Amino acid sequence: MQRYNVIVIGAGSAGAAAAARISEDPRRTVLLLEAGPDYPDLGSLPLDVRQGHATGADNVVGGRHDWQFIGRGTSLNEDMPVARGYVMGGTSAINGQVFLRGLPEDFDQWAAWGNTEWSWQKVLPCFRKLETDLNYPGGDFHGSDGPILVRRYQPNELLADQSAFVRACRDYGFPDCPDHNDPGGWGVGPLPLNNPDGIRWSTSLGYLGPARHRLNLTVRGNCLVRRILFEPSEGSSGPARSGAGRSAQERQGLRAIGVEVESPYYRWGRKTVPEALEGPVLPPGGPSSASAPSVRGIEPDGSSFQTLSPSPSPDGRGETFLVYADEVILCAGPIASPQLLTLSGIGPAAQVRDLGLHVLADLPGVGQNLRDHPMVHVVWKAKDGFPMPDLKVGPQKVALRYTAPGSDLRADMSTVMRWSSQTRVFLMSAVIYLAKSAGELRVASPDPHVQPSLDYRLLDHPEDMRRMKDGVRLNIRLGEHPSYRDILGGLTGPTPDEAAIDEALETWLLRNTQSMGHISGTCKMGPDSDPMAVVDQSLHVHGVEGLRVADCSIMPDCVRANTNATAIMIGERVAEFVKGDGQPAIMSF
Ligand SMILES: Cc1cc2nc3c(=O)[nH]c(=O)nc-3n(C[C@H](O)[C@H](O)[C@H](O)COP(=O)(O)OP(=O)(O)OC[C@H]3O[C@@H](n4cnc5c(N)ncnc54)[C@H](O)[C@@H]3O)c2cc1C
Repeated sequence: MQRYNVIVIGAGSAGAAAAARISEDPRRTVLLLEAGPDYPDLGSLPLDVRQGHATGADNVVGGRHDWQFIGRGTSLNEDMPVARGYVMGGTSAINGQVFLRGLPEDFDQWAAWGNTEWSWQKVLPCFRKLETDLNYPGGDFHGSDGPILVRRYQPNELLADQSAFVRACRDYGFPDCPDHNDPGGWGVGPLPLNNPDGIRWSTSLGYLGPARHRLNLTVRGNCLVRRILFEPSEGSSGPARSGAGRSAQERQGLRAIGVEVESPYYRWGRKTVPEALEGPVLPPGGPSSASAPSVRGIEPDGSSFQTLSPSPSPDGRGETFLVYADEVILCAGPIASPQLLTLSGIGPAAQVRDLGLHVLADLPGVGQNLRDHPMVHVVWKAKDGFPMPDLKVGPQKVALRYTAPGSDLRADMSTVMRWSSQTRVFLMSAVIYLAKSAGELRVASPDPHVQPSLDYRLLDHPEDMRRMKDGVRLNIRLGEHPSYRDILGGLTGPTPDEAAIDEALETWLLRNTQSMGHISGTCKMGPDSDPMAVVDQSLHVHGVEGLRVADCSIMPDCVRANTNATAIMIGERVAEFVKGDGQPAIMSF
């Protein structure tokens, strides 16, 4: 047992990238802790995680590699499924493999809000570094030797509905967009996808695979971090504070020194995944253990290992361990990161107290500013007799990005053409890429196994409702294009009557709009002067030493793109910050 230089909590899009990059420096010891199971190579990867085919994640969502949370989407969609990856690679290991970057304007807006280290110019090198673009290698905008493999289907590989979509968009006046990752690109064209040969190229495969041999990188699955440990920092006299006008003195006082970990942790039971797939679903956290687990402590100086008084863990599950480090990087994603901060005493003071916990730092922004991309499927029955394609050929290959009429935000909307072979339907998903509504996450229990309550408030802002109605009506018009004559049968959602009347369409939208899975913003980055900022632009938690947050939660606003590539960029960027900080520590083994 030893003390580490860096502990990374959560091996998702950002966390796996950060751990792999930081451990490139052999003088730094890194412990990467992931709650979900670990499959160390391609051969051991279960099929649901391995086979992507750009499915929109249909075959893995709702299974044993999904945390399966529930959130309130809208006033008429109270029990909305919220998928998150519960596996090494995190949500990058269960997602739909669309590999789009945010727009330059997104990052320049972050910079304008006081985060100058995150301008487009500053983040572009990370976007290039993280990818190997098989269609556009090299050049000013693309990478040619990064860990994530990206490709686009060519026009001759598109299926009937996808070609019809391209033709309909063109005839409607939208330009061709051969590269949706070109900084100025918009219009209709092939989606960049990180799924070479149909394999979902997660950060576990791309980043951890080539790094696992390193003796200074320890990767552990089935380890649930329960809370972050702190000590008063030198010269401190009291708890850290939050809010505008924090003085330098107030910002001193608290230092992260390690984490409390439950190991082993099995959300869906202790059976192996293939066995568990056959069996009944167990309650979150798995079955309770009859044996009394012991608590083990690792001394902060790493010099000795001590068994403390054996006692049952509070939840009667795995053993509880304390592990120490010079620096903790929280990459547990936009739901678990604010949850873990709050459970560790860092969050809105009243909420922390209501949970019966001691307030270490009052940061009112923790859990606020919940951002996402509202999405709704416009659905048609397939024309009778139309041969539905095989899943393996990829239902999600082309998309339209455009600016909503009356909007001053470039490319704030998207439409993706998809199908579902089992149910014989075609879908055009209307998406708001830059929504104005924001929701809230509240930690519901001091028990880390209990999910926080998630109130997305999708379409709350009238401008979001207006743009979504327009998006749905645009999709219906695209579906009326002659190219679809032999493909699409009747429109089933919304019905033509619902689509025609504003009020009826609004009700249909409130019932059917869902999260696109791009939750972000719940620990937003911002300067000291912003009372709702949780981390500064080097991703340090305001008022706390030795603790950074690096995942989708730090986005001040959600980018105008699916979020995986940006999350990985955040992992790359935090690694740059860590490696550039102070003197490298000496390896302790
Ligand atoms: C169904 C679905 C489809 C999607 N499709 C796309 C797509 O096609 N393209 C795209 O760009 N984006 C897509 N996304 C979104 C994108 O994948 C995510 O935004 C991104 O992966 C999030 O990265 P992250 O690092 O913030 O969090 P995550 O990748 O979720 O990583 C967080 C990790 O922390 C672990 N963790 C949580 N709590 C703890 C704890 N207490 N202790 C230890 N570990 C913990 C989790 O298990 C997880 O592995 C999709 C999302 C979903 C849900």
